[in-house]
Amino acid sequence: MALIVQKFGGTSVANPEKIKAVAERVLARQREGHRLVVVLSAMAGETNRFVDLANQMQNIPAPRELDMLLATGEQVTISLFAMAVKELGGDAVSLLGDQVKIHTDNMHTRARILAIDHELINNHLDQGRVVVVAGFQGVTESGEITTLGRGGSDTTAVALAAALKADQCDIFTDVEGVYTTDPNICASARKIDRITYDEMLELASLGAKVLDIRSVSIAKRHKVPVQVRSTFTNTEGTWVVEEDKTMESNPVSGVTYNRNEARITVSKLPDVPGIASRLFTPVAKEGIVVDMIIQNTRDGNLTDLTFTVPKTDYKRAMPIVEKTAREIGAERVSGSENICKVSVVGVGMRNHPGIATTMFDVLAREGINIEMISTSEIKISCVIDEKYTELAVRALHDAFNLQEKEA
Ligand code: ASP
Ligand code: MG
Repeated sequence: MALIVQKFGGTSVANPEKIKAVAERVLARQREGHRLVVVLSAMAGETNRFVDLANQMQNIPAPRELDMLLATGEQVTISLFAMAVKELGGDAVSLLGDQVKIHTDNMHTRARILAIDHELINNHLDQGRVVVVAGFQGVTESGEITTLGRGGSDTTAVALAAALKADQCDIFTDVEGVYTTDPNICASARKIDRITYDEMLELASLGAKVLDIRSVSIAKRHKVPVQVRSTFTNTEGTWVVEEDKTMESNPVSGVTYNRNEARITVSKLPDVPGIASRLFTPVAKEGIVVDMIIQNTRDGNLTDLTFTVPKTDYKRAMPIVEKTAREIGAERVSGSENICKVSVVGVGMRNHPGIATTMFDVLAREGINIEMISTSEIKISCVIDEKYTELAVRALHDAFNLQEKEA
C-alpha cells in the first residue's frame, strides 16, 4: 500500500465532466489499495478571471485582498471534486490550506511554504477517505490567507508529498510528460522517460513550462519521485528522479528555448573596480532580475558589458542603465528585445567533452550568429536572434539525436 499525492491542473478540472472523470481515476487508484491525497488547481481560466476582476477594482490590487480572492478558485474545485467522489460511492473530504495548516510566510501573492501539518490529513486517510487539498494557498502564523504565486499548485503537491513522506507525487496535466523539446516547434520531439531533478531544474528555469520550478527544488531536496503525466491518457509519464547510471547514455537530454528575455549592452565602460556594482545595484533595487551577464576587456582600460533582463522589465531597465552609464562615462547603451536563449541540457554532458563545440558548429552551419554564451555543468545556452528560434531548436534536436530512443 502506497501513499500517493496526485495533483490535477486547471485543464484537468476545467468543467463538471472533467472533474467527474478525475474523481473516477482517483477512486480507481484508491481501490487498488493506496492512500490518496489529491491537490487541485482552480478551473482553467478562473485565476486569470479573478486577476482581471481585481484590476477593475483597484489600480494595483492590495496583495492581501488579492490573495483572499485568488484562493477561492481552488475552493470551488476541491468541494465539487469531493462531491463527485461521494456520488461514485467513495468517501472524500476537501480541505483548504488553512484547515490542513499549510504554514507560509506573509509575502502575499508569492508566499513560501514553511511547514505542513500532517495530523489532520493522516486522520482522514486512516478513515479511508480521499483527502482533497486546495493547491496554491496557505496560511500565515496570524491566520491570513496567502497564495504561492501563479502555478503554485505544483509546489503544494510536492511539498505535501515531502511532508507526508509519500511514495510518489503524480502531476497530472494536459501533456504526456516532459519532452526532449517543444513538440509545437519540433515534430520529432519525444517524451522523456526519466530525467534528473537537476536537469528538470535547468529545463524549468530555461522556459519549459510543464512543472513549476519551485516544486522541482522541493522534490530534489526531499527526494520525492515526481511523475508528470497526462490526465487524458493512461500512458506512463516522465519520472523526475535522482540521477542513476542508466541516464548517461545520451549526453544531452533536452533542448529548450526562452523568448522572454531582452538584451542590454553597455559599451566602452571604464574598466575599474566597482563598475559592475554601480551598474547593477540600481537595477536590482527596482526588483529587476538580471540573468546572463558577460563582460569582456578591450584595449585602453575600457570594457563592454552585456546582460539580459526579463522582456517585461526591458522598458523599465533601459532608462536606469542609461542614467548610470552616463554617470560613469560609458560611451553607449544599446539593446534588443528580439532575442532568444536556446539551451541544451543534460547530466551526461559532464563526461562528454565537445558538446559546446557541437552546439556552436550546428548554429554556424545554419548561419545563426551567437550573441552571448553561458554554461553550467549540465547546460550550454546561446543567445541568438529571436527569428531563428525554430531553426536552431530543430537543428540542435537533430544534431544530438534526441528523436531516437536512448539505448
Ligand atoms: N490556480 C493557480 C494559477 O492559475 C495555481 C495553479 O494552477 O497552479 O496560477
Ligand atoms: Mg501549472
